[in-house]
Amino acid sequence: MSKPIIGITPNFSFKERTYGIAETYVESLKKAGAIPVLLPHAPADAAALAASLDALLVSGGPDIDPVFFEEQPHPKLGSICPERDDSELTLLKAFLACGKPILGICRGEQALNIALGGSLYQDLGTQFPSEALLKHNQEGPRWYTSHTVELQQGTKLQQIYGASQIGVNSFHHQAVKNLAPGLVTAAIAPDGVIEAYEHPGHVFCIGVQWHPECMFELSSPSDKLFAAFIAACATS
Ligand code: MN
Repeated sequence: MSKPIIGITPNFSFKERTYGIAETYVESLKKAGAIPVLLPHAPADAAALAASLDALLVSGGPDIDPVFFEEQPHPKLGSICPERDDSELTLLKAFLACGKPILGICRGEQALNIALGGSLYQDLGTQFPSEALLKHNQEGPRWYTSHTVELQQGTKLQQIYGASQIGVNSFHHQAVKNLAPGLVTAAIAPDGVIEAYEHPGHVFCIGVQWHPECMFELSSPSDKLFAAFIAACATS
């Protein structure tokens, strides 16, 4: 099979009117054998993009407007970008409709859950119902794994990593609250925060709250996640 062409949603600065993406996303896909392309906002053409591309990677970034899960903004809600929200949610629905592989990373994981009807904690520090909440906004290097997650038996994610527990990096103050219908939890942090999920009805539809792309320069278990994502392109 020729190299799959995978769309990546970039960040968008509504102040500067510029797109941007960390090279780690691009390099991770290239290392795994794909051709990455960046997708500017084009909600009207989402169906055409989903038909043309082999897979979608929804990247990390700022917060998502809670209007999409019918909540008012919490005081700790960070910056939001309505154009990016609209574009990504439309793209996700188009790729879901096509049954093509989807990988959601951090904000992308949260967006996928919302696209399917789930909700988020707008701020873990003030809303998560546990005294034992971990520090999920690490201040070490991007590639460093700061907390563990338990991979759930019987999930595709657990098969991919081939382990019951892995270390992950953590750069988030939000997380999945109610998982959308059809999704199953695939990884849980020691404090109970959902850190990954998947859709068993799709060839590859996985969201991870951590940043596997930050490990692309290492030989790390994250390589397996990107390899499985690329391999799924040949079967969808
Ligand atoms: Mn975390």
